[in-house]
Amino acid sequence: MADRKIILSESEMPKSWYNVAPDLPNPPSPPKHPGTGQPIGPEDLAPLFPMSLIGQEVSTDSEIPIPEPVLEAYAAYRPSPMIRATALEKALGTPAKIYYKYEGVSPAGSHKPNTAIAQAYYNKLEGTKRIATETGAGQWGSAISQVAGMFGLEVTVYMVKVSYDQKPYRKSLIETWGGTVFPSPTDRTNAGRKTLEADPNSPGSLGIAISEAVEDAATHDDTKYALGSVLNHVCLHQTIIGQEAKLQLAKVGESADVVIGCCGGGSNFAGLSFPYVRDKVAGSDVRLVAVEPTSCPTLTKGEYKYDFGDTAELTPLVEMYTLGHEFVPPAIHAGGLRYHGDSPLVSQIVHEGIAEAYAYNQLEVFEAGVQFARTEGIIPAPESTHAIKQAIVEALQAKEEGKEKTILFNLSGHGHFDMSAYDAYFAGELTAE
Ligand SMILES: *Cc1c(COP(=O)(O)O)cnc(C)c1O
Repeated sequence: MADRKIILSESEMPKSWYNVAPDLPNPPSPPKHPGTGQPIGPEDLAPLFPMSLIGQEVSTDSEIPIPEPVLEAYAAYRPSPMIRATALEKALGTPAKIYYKYEGVSPAGSHKPNTAIAQAYYNKLEGTKRIATETGAGQWGSAISQVAGMFGLEVTVYMVKVSYDQKPYRKSLIETWGGTVFPSPTDRTNAGRKTLEADPNSPGSLGIAISEAVEDAATHDDTKYALGSVLNHVCLHQTIIGQEAKLQLAKVGESADVVIGCCGGGSNFAGLSFPYVRDKVAGSDVRLVAVEPTSCPTLTKGEYKYDFGDTAELTPLVEMYTLGHEFVPPAIHAGGLRYHGDSPLVSQIVHEGIAEAYAYNQLEVFEAGVQFARTEGIIPAPESTHAIKQAIVEALQAKEEGKEKTILFNLSGHGHFDMSAYDAYFAGELTAE
């Protein structure tokens, strides 16, 4: 029997993060000041982030060593397993090999702790007492609450109201791990109060919640802001995923022809795919594919331009694909993919043709997610079902063409706290948005 589950030992875990920036054909565009429109310097970001993370944000080093305490915290759940989806392959009758990297093994159940641990570590090192952050579907809020507690930090989470109501157990997780959570918009910040004045029943959005968390951090000396996706340092921390994946495939004498990740802010896709960008730029024909919902089609229908990361125009302007910072996407169940913008680095590789992007609707992705659960067993997070859908599309294409191909996708998390979304799917309540 061929190897189905490919594991690395703790000593084989990569000891550095991979920085894609120096390998890109063009340098990344600089972030600009929200007020003046001029390129910003480290001092502009200092009220929000510890200096070590600001340094990583603009670093031109290819490799950034992972500090020992971060490696130790990673080792509680890493290296994560890679599994060959032989049961799904059989069900599809495809000649393709499908491998998935499973990030649902972390305590929070997604890839997000990979950066949460690093951010908590650097904040603690530089004297931060409290972290203010936002969360969409709640995965980031729970991930940062879990690890911040371990590093002795307090956490205040602004959770998008529609998700707060849809996913009550995410709130329970945040509180169990010691975080404090508020449904956003709140009346605790100017940004929140302004939103509530305009619409007392606002369902909230990631853009509004970011404004609230940024304002909280900027107005309290002992508090810094943390973001669970989008930023360069977040994508950097996630590259542990792709580096492990390459080692795992090499162990069974394989290499990927197509590398797939779902894309909200871009970090799990970046984490798996960035380590392949170097090969791609050097001439490899590996395909890198980002997958998003048709209801929030940032990469496939957005404009590539400078825009704000938040609704209240408090964040720096960054060049990225965007649907406009006032865009409030419909309340789909893949809450983690409801963001108007995208990581500037992910946007750049799509814009420059290094990566591709596709969009699918809720019905298509849940159908794929259920097929995956019934073959492979793991119930995927609604976000991850987008990657599964693309993997199935690629596998069926291989079948049609009678060609072998090796497909690798990121199973960014499990769906154990998203069962109400599956209930809605089975009840026929989801629309093809
Ligand atoms: C947050 C989240 C996503 C989307 O965020 P990215 O930064 O695009 O990775 C995808 N999958 C899961 C399970 C998540 O928790």
